[in-house]
Amino acid sequence: MKKKKIKKKILVTGGAGFIGSYLTEELLKRGEEVFVLDDLSTGRWENISHLEKEKNFHFIEGSILEEKTVEKLVKKVDEIYHLAAAVGVKKIMENPLQSFLINIKGTEIIFEKASKKKIPVLFSSSSEVYGKNEKVPFKEDSDRCYGSAYNIRWGYGLSKSCDEYLGLCYFREKKLPVVIVRFFNIIGPRQSSAYGMVVPRFVKQALKGQPLTVYGDGYQTRCFANVKDIIPSLIKLMEHPHSKGEIFNLGSDEEVTIKELAQKIKSLTASPSKIVFIPYEKVYGRYFEDMIHRKPDLSKVKNLIGYEPKISLEESLKEIIKFYEERKDLLSFD
Ligand code: UDP
Repeated sequence: MKKKKIKKKILVTGGAGFIGSYLTEELLKRGEEVFVLDDLSTGRWENISHLEKEKNFHFIEGSILEEKTVEKLVKKVDEIYHLAAAVGVKKIMENPLQSFLINIKGTEIIFEKASKKKIPVLFSSSSEVYGKNEKVPFKEDSDRCYGSAYNIRWGYGLSKSCDEYLGLCYFREKKLPVVIVRFFNIIGPRQSSAYGMVVPRFVKQALKGQPLTVYGDGYQTRCFANVKDIIPSLIKLMEHPHSKGEIFNLGSDEEVTIKELAQKIKSLTASPSKIVFIPYEKVYGRYFEDMIHRKPDLSKVKNLIGYEPKISLEESLKEIIKFYEERKDLLSFD
């Protein structure tokens, strides 16, 4: 006789966000009971409203900074995917203090409450932690390298680095089972363009016939991964017995320059838009620095859980373009 699966209760902080909403869907599909905690600051109710009727879905509008709320939720659950954070270069540049505090204080609260029960926490970190290290591909133990203190951009990488450090300390000293995942430029439908993310920005600009705004000379490179490729890996990493106390890069290693990205999007949308080049200084001010290359070494996650990204950049772009073509109402939003 087939053994009956025991339903887990899972907290997803930031579950109304882009990645969080896909994760929530997948966990529900697997029969788990999911509690989403989101303050709808960068996340959107619309991302999860279609799940409202599911009996295993619970939405709590609130912040990870509200200790009582977090404590009550942590008491109920068996696992935590901690995705809530201030995200996006634009958001960080515009709200540096609030972003830093949410990332640092909020994550401390999650780790502290979780450590009382010693329940597993998957912490979503970022490839920003590598900073401007130019030795690509980045391995999990590569150096982190930040520029001037006057460049606010590094505040995000720093905040995520502090959170990682905190997580590793909680693992070592409080025996909290923490797994740290560094996301590399994850893309897909539902990702907002409001916080600077380049793919939804270029797609919307192209569909509106507006200039595609490449910052700098466009020779900086990124590797974009489809959100659907990474979601099952998050669950595998959470469940794997050897993932705790470890850091994993997650994303794609298919590299593209931002100029090529603009050209691809222009051609896939058959847009008459021009591609324009804007100096970083004009967009983000005097001290701004970008990372020139950002490419993960994925061998650690491949070796542990057999991760293999399957969706190409072109397929992802087509999917995102289709999403916006069907949701023309979203084109008018930033
Ligand atoms: N970028 C750009 N035009 C835009 C938005 C972003 O050229 O309208 C560039 C940005 O400077 C960076 C790359 O695209 O070099 C990726 O930016 P994003 O904010 O999506 O992610 P991150 O900088 O965190 O990799």
